[in-house]
Amino acid sequence: PLVLGIETSCDETGVGIVRGHTLLANTIASSVEEHARFGGVVPEVASRAHLEAMAPTVERALDQAGLRLTDIDAIAVTAGPGLAGALLVGVAAAKAYSLGLGIPLYGVNHLAAHVAVDQLEHGALPKPCIAMLVSGGHSSLLLVPDVAKEVIPLGSTIDDAAGEAFDKVARLLGLPFPGGPYIDRAATSGSATAIHFPRGKYNDGTYDFSFSGLKTAVARWVEARLAAGESIPVSDVAASFQEAVVDVLTRKAIAACRTHGVRDLLIGGGVAANSRLRALAQERCDAAGIRLRVPRPGLCTDNGAMVATLGSDLVAAGVAPSLMDIPADSSMPVTTVHV
Ligand code: ATP
Ligand code: MG
Ligand code: FE
Repeated sequence: PLVLGIETSCDETGVGIVRGHTLLANTIASSVEEHARFGGVVPEVASRAHLEAMAPTVERALDQAGLRLTDIDAIAVTAGPGLAGALLVGVAAAKAYSLGLGIPLYGVNHLAAHVAVDQLEHGALPKPCIAMLVSGGHSSLLLVPDVAKEVIPLGSTIDDAAGEAFDKVARLLGLPFPGGPYIDRAATSGSATAIHFPRGKYNDGTYDFSFSGLKTAVARWVEARLAAGESIPVSDVAASFQEAVVDVLTRKAIAACRTHGVRDLLIGGGVAANSRLRALAQERCDAAGIRLRVPRPGLCTDNGAMVATLGSDLVAAGVAPSLMDIPADSSMPVTTVHV
């Protein structure tokens, strides 16, 4: 069946179309530029932008796939977690398409969708696998027996998300928002060992993360240089900060695989687009005999195809569609794969 997925949990209006694990279309309208001057996503601005972009983005997705709306067999939509007002726009649109076309509706979890999307690139997920989700709002380690049925949280950040740390440090360094990609780029010409920044919760034996101490350490280091009238070596700070983040992430992800006897690690979410995270994860997985799966960068950041993929898995698993009155749940737990 053809599944159309709608994603509006943050600042990207994403619409994707899949057949099974085959990607037919993935279109995105982003309001990121409208938020840039505020240094973060402004919820009201995001909701309005979703409203304006929704119908045209669906049209573009259909064009891209060479399909008509009446060809679609099921609609999937992010029901949470995310910004309440932003989620509502996607959920309302999905209900309208579902009712109008007389086809089933599936409300899905955004985080589970970040995991499911990898199947478009690397085929069906091994059951179980360990998934590490690193984005602007989340940093979690998950044991995934079956992404369409059961996701078990092992740990998550106790303060900032990894992407949030990238964005805040980028701001300190005078780089644009969202800062992750700019840090990634700046780091390529810097030294990862130039400055030793702290690695929070490195040896605590949990699967939790902490990035706010690291962010503060970078801020202090930068302030001290400025106070001394010295310039900031942006590339070195970027590379050293990035190394601290990816060192902790990969260490804990591999520990989770070892402890649970799982041979497959998946990394997803916007920060999985980071080139150093991808390289270090590959190196450490190779050494540990773990198979690593990371979707291409365009599938790591928020998109509609990830929602369509999870919807497609739910259809394939024979899961009953959602009721027409599904809520948008801004704090939906990762254990709720669908509503
Ligand atoms: P959620 O947490 O709900 O999934 P999100 O809006 O943060 O939402 P994503 O698109 O998954 O969604 O992630 C965006 C984050 O990823 C931002 O913090 C951004 O800076 C970060 N990011 C994107 N590319 C890179 C990169 N190359 N290196 C590091 N961070 C990156
Ligand atoms: Mg985003
Ligand atoms: Fe996301």
